Amino acid sequence: MVGAGPAGLTAAITAAQRGYRVIMLDGNRLPGRKLLLTGKGRCNLTNACDNDLMISNILHNGKFLINALYQFGSSDTIAFFASLGLPTKTERGNRVFPASDQARDVLDVLLNIADKAGVDFRSERVIQVSHERGIFQIKTTSSLYHSSRLIIATGGMSYPATGSTGDGYRWAAALGHRIVPTRPALVPLVTSTAWIKVMNRLLLKNCGVEIISKSGRKLFSGFGEIELDQGMAGGALLLTASSQLDSVQGCRLLIDLKPALSPEQLQNRIEREVERKPGLITADLLRKLLPAALAGIFPQLSNIKPGTRVIDLKIKARKRLVELLKSLPVELTGHGPFSKAVITAGGVDVQEVDPQTMGSRLIPGLYFAGEVLDLDGLTGGFNLQIAWTTGFVAGSSC
Ligand SMILES: Cc1cc2nc3c(=O)[nH]c(=O)nc-3n(C[C@H](O)[C@H](O)[C@H](O)COP(=O)(O)OP(=O)(O)OC[C@H]3O[C@@H](n4cnc5c(N)ncnc54)[C@H](O)[C@@H]3O)c2cc1C
Repeated sequence: MVGAGPAGLTAAITAAQRGYRVIMLDGNRLPGRKLLLTGKGRCNLTNACDNDLMISNILHNGKFLINALYQFGSSDTIAFFASLGLPTKTERGNRVFPASDQARDVLDVLLNIADKAGVDFRSERVIQVSHERGIFQIKTTSSLYHSSRLIIATGGMSYPATGSTGDGYRWAAALGHRIVPTRPALVPLVTSTAWIKVMNRLLLKNCGVEIISKSGRKLFSGFGEIELDQGMAGGALLLTASSQLDSVQGCRLLIDLKPALSPEQLQNRIEREVERKPGLITADLLRKLLPAALAGIFPQLSNIKPGTRVIDLKIKARKRLVELLKSLPVELTGHGPFSKAVITAGGVDVQEVDPQTMGSRLIPGLYFAGEVLDLDGLTGGFNLQIAWTTGFVAGSSC
């Protein structure tokens, strides 16, 4: 099998425990490189929700996983790790983490059980895969392998520095599989708005956002956390938007910086500040309402001199301030690159894969597991559950 990420490791362990001789090839020196980065090093390993909720959080082809989730769902994942001596804890939004908060511990228990089950890990990059008369030929940088079964678990194209560079798609296509066009998902959005270029990881909690198409249609709305960083608009809320929307080119992002207040309430709040302190200048008012980085650029955006006393502002200027606070416009030009994407949308077309086995409907003996398939979930542990589920099913069926 190729790929020693969460999907490949699960498939290898399951197949080896069934008595198969398993050789697990990975281009990295050590397995599970991306797994160590997950959940900011804490590994949000699944979501403790029922299968229906799980499926609704998988944006593309969630229904393909119905059968597989009954074979190995999130409760099986939690029980599996508990059986390996790794207790878990459940946090806000049903997000499950190792009790130790260490992704390293998740990987260590997997490597330990893989070793015990007899999985033979080899650090070799696969450069070609072919299939002739029922046998797969797997060529690596140093050897040639032959096998009647092959599991491709090479991941997607996101964070390519971790080893997943999209090779699995090329082999699947060469073997006759259709590849649904790939794109970065759970990725910050790129903006052309000049002031965002000078923002440095500005985290704005409790914002409202809307994404409006060129024709004025509302494509996305939500409430939560966003991050503005050097020309990119990311954070949990906008990562979700990036997965839900195939294209945001030419769209406008509107940020509500004061979602708890209506425009009238905000206007009143400003009036109250002025009553309390008639000499208040605009720069000081902005500092009361906004984080420093934003307060600094607001005068330019609103065409108001920062030293102007708020009491001297014309009604139109005050309205303009309120408008910007409630609906700060940012122009979007597209999704960020794969190198910043948590996940890849698109991949091996699941129509050509048996949902009960993860086996190819075109080539007997060929199986797929993990991100290489056209399955992608939202944040919350759904993507790792896709890896455990499809890995288990492929390893049980091959
Ligand atoms: C920063 C970050 C944080 C994340 N956090 C979470 C989280 O908290 N919870 C969650 O559910 N999901 C999270 N994800 C997503 C999750 O990591 C992926 O869904 C998951 O790793 C996919 O597993 P996989 O086994 O399919 O692929 P991968 O983990 O990408 O593993 C694929 C393996 O295949 C190997 N490979 C590729 N090509 C070749 C080749 N030619 N020869 C040999 N080997 C090859 C690679 O080296 C790699 O080791 C996160 C992703 C990122 C980038």
